[in-house]
Amino acid sequence: MDTVQDRHRTYRGHLFHIAGSPHSAAVDAHVVSERDGAIAVDRQGRIEWVGPWGRAPRHVIERPVARAAFLLPGFVDTHVHYPQVYSTDAYGGGQLLEWLDSCIFPAEARFKDEAFARQAAADFTARRLAVGTTSAMVFGSAFPHAQDALYEQSLAAGLRTVSGRGVQVLGPPSASMLLTDEEEALSLVAAEIDRWHGTDPEQRPAHEAMIQTAIVPRFSLSTTPRTLAGLGELFTGHRDRGVYVHTHLSENDRPGDGECAAVRAAYGVEHYLDTYDGLFLPGSRRGGDSLLGRRTIMAHAVHCADVELRRLADAGASIAHCPVSQQFLGSGTMPWRRTTASGVTVAMGTDVGAGDEWLMSRVLASAYGVHLSEPAGASVALTPGELLFAATLAGARALDQERLTGNFDIGKEADLLLIEPTEALAGAIEFGVRADEEDRAHRQLLFTLLMGLRESAIRGVVVRGRVVRGS
Ligand SMILES: [Zn+2]
Repeated sequence: MDTVQDRHRTYRGHLFHIAGSPHSAAVDAHVVSERDGAIAVDRQGRIEWVGPWGRAPRHVIERPVARAAFLLPGFVDTHVHYPQVYSTDAYGGGQLLEWLDSCIFPAEARFKDEAFARQAAADFTARRLAVGTTSAMVFGSAFPHAQDALYEQSLAAGLRTVSGRGVQVLGPPSASMLLTDEEEALSLVAAEIDRWHGTDPEQRPAHEAMIQTAIVPRFSLSTTPRTLAGLGELFTGHRDRGVYVHTHLSENDRPGDGECAAVRAAYGVEHYLDTYDGLFLPGSRRGGDSLLGRRTIMAHAVHCADVELRRLADAGASIAHCPVSQQFLGSGTMPWRRTTASGVTVAMGTDVGAGDEWLMSRVLASAYGVHLSEPAGASVALTPGELLFAATLAGARALDQERLTGNFDIGKEADLLLIEPTEALAGAIEFGVRADEEDRAHRQLLFTLLMGLRESAIRGVVVRGRVVRGS
């Protein structure tokens, strides 16, 4: 374990980040590329100075220096399923609802075994360390002992985690082990918030703590109006302390029997989002408090109407965009231009296990491809700056932790990745064609770095100034 003293160091390398707090449309003007850059971290783990090494003040140069070819902000995964740690690449032979029934509910039921859950929590945390996911919104297990194991592992590893047990009161027979009645569902969520929300080794305020909790209905098909009313009440009672809401929204719209049609039919609502907005009674009448707020993250939002996107934006809620998983389950993809134009924050999620990529930059590569391949008129070539933003600062914004992390601005807590290119990436960086114009050449290099990055190149991970992996 590092001592606080060990945080007091300077990182030197080619640094890339999105500086400031730009609106998503203005990200490209905020890309910082510093070929020989320095990031100085103070004893509290905060960034004290950032800029070119050649202009660094004496006290920055004279403290211990850790070098890397490249320095990036830590990745933020805004949607990842802990009880699906062993379920990537699971063959379900169908789309969302078949895959849940045949692959996922049985896999998640295995967490009932305490020893199995402890091993899974250790493996899940190890995967995060390996791929540099310093912050994550973690969709949790139904079992409280499994959630305890997750938080304990995350604290020991020094990672930032928001999570909550997956709430499910309805489901097919394969989900029977994961179900509780409505009352127990609510009391288990309340107990998890009481036990874990705001846990921090350094006693930071709850809304800045390393461990925070969320209210996590699996999706509207796993709940009832009464459950949603109870969860809304819980959120209203706890949101001042920074408790989150996390769930799935409009992922799969196969005509006739897909998730979206099933939700509208089950509740008799006009729009899927209504069920999470307190409007879950037939005809989208109000039945309870809304689950939407600045600390609400909806995974997918592939098939939302404009009015739903506007509502999310107005509430300050965010979308976890998961292109790898959307392809795997035949869900289509979230329309990039239309969604971002609504003003809602769009961050990235692996959605492990429907997503088989743990590494956020691989999810960015998928995003680049699917949005370039959207139908004419909607097709967009995401810029290197937009890609980096989506996996770092936008994630911090979605978690309502932009004040703390997401980039290398002075005063933020130092969450960063030390990168040494390996294999194909090393060659692409050294010999790839670059424009004569310096600004364009930097963007080309950033694109190469993001698209070519593999796990083996992530040599060090730093969270809140602590080296949590590597040297
Ligand atoms: Zn998911």
